[in-house]
This record gives sequence, structure tokens and C-alpha cells, in this order.
Amino acid sequence: MRRRIGSLLAVLALLVGGAVATSVVAPATASADECYSWNRTLQRGASGSDVRELQIRVAGWVASGENLALDGSYGPATEAAVKRFQSGYGLAADGVAGPNTFNKIYQLQDPDCTPIHFSHSEFNYNCGARNYNGGKVGAATARENTRRVMWQLEALRHKLGDRPLVVTSGFRSVSCNSSVGGSSTSLHMYGTAADLGLGSSPTQCQMYHGAKSAGFEEILGQGYPNHNDHVHVGNKSSRFWSAPNC
Ligand SMILES: [Zn+2]
Repeated sequence: MRRRIGSLLAVLALLVGGAVATSVVAPATASADECYSWNRTLQRGASGSDVRELQIRVAGWVASGENLALDGSYGPATEAAVKRFQSGYGLAADGVAGPNTFNKIYQLQDPDCTPIHFSHSEFNYNCGARNYNGGKVGAATARENTRRVMWQLEALRHKLGDRPLVVTSGFRSVSCNSSVGGSSTSLHMYGTAADLGLGSSPTQCQMYHGAKSAGFEEILGQGYPNHNDHVHVGNKSSRFWSAPNC
């Protein structure tokens, strides 16, 4: 109920806020019902789209080198990721996703189901186009792919001490990618990658090493050609980590 009241207040603020409405940010507790709500406890053996939604949100809580499958099946890897998530946020780490776990996720998610510290506006710059068009997958797929990346980054951000991570490049169309000198096979054209700038508190090497246990299979940083001013993280099926100076 508190959530609904919060939503109403936020809407009211938007209605009366006029020109300043765009600066009104709804409180995190207002998000749960608007984004996604789980209606059952999930644990090992469960399956379904609600498990997949959970997997997206704990994909950044894997062991080093692991990449959690978003298969809607609550197996040992999902259970272990949930345990790390719970432990990371001070909850009892039983690997069972119940009310406490879901309430923490509700606090962490925005109405559009992105995590509170990341948004599509950071990912869809696309050389000024402000959309997910023109990549190697359809716009809806690219957008969905970035949502997973954002949740991995939310985990990385928390593990690095809740210090801001600045996304300097997210999705890029094929032409945008080529105009900025991206690799012809760049994951940015799929929405599965992000570049993290150095204008934030964690060092380049802290982000590089931290990304290894946030589910990223592609991590490039200091000492890798053209990657001295950011850390590139991405999701793919095979591992490629390189930062010779870290
Ligand atoms: Zn990159």
C-alpha cells in the first residue's frame, strides 16, 4: 500500500510540477508494483518466467568467470547467485528467494525495470539517435539485452562500495559503431556491452577485476589497445579478458 501511495504522490508531483516535472524522481519504494512483482517464493527446482526475471537481477552475483544462464530454471547456479545477492545486501543467505529478497529487489528497481543507478538514457545515446535502432539485433532485443547489463553493473557498483559507475557508451548501431572506430564484431551493436569511464571513484583496475565476478565474459581495460580511458564489459559465450596493466 505504501508503494501505491508513493506512486500517487509521484504522479501528483509530476502533474503540479509543470516545467520542473522532469527532475522529479519517484522514491525507490514506489517502484515495485509498476515494474514487476513476484507472487511466489522461488527456490531450487522452480521454473518459469518469474525465475528468469529473478535471474536477470542476480546475474551480477556470480562466481568469477561464471555467466548465469537466463533459462528460467532455478538450478544450483541461480541458487548460488541468490545467496551472494542476499549476503551482499545483508540478508539471510539461504538461496531461497522469498519476501525479503524480493523486497530488496523492489528497492533496487525503477518502474521500467532497470536498476536504480542505471537507465536506458545512458545506454541508448547511439551517436545522438537516442534509440536502439540499427544494430545487429532488433531494437527490442537490444533494449532487453541492456537491461541485463545494467543489473550486472548494479551488482558491480554495490560490490565496489556503492561508488558511481559512469557509462560512456552503451548500444551503438552498426553505422554509429563504425563511426566511433568500434570493432566490426563489437558487442555494442547487440546491446550486450558497456564502456565504463574513469570519471568515477573506482579505479580502472578495480572495475576490471570486479567485472570478472559480475558475469562479464568480455572485459577489456588498461593496456589493451584503445582501452586506456575506460573499461569495456560485455556478455558473450566465450571468455576474453585483457588488461595487461592491471
Ligand atoms: Zn566497449
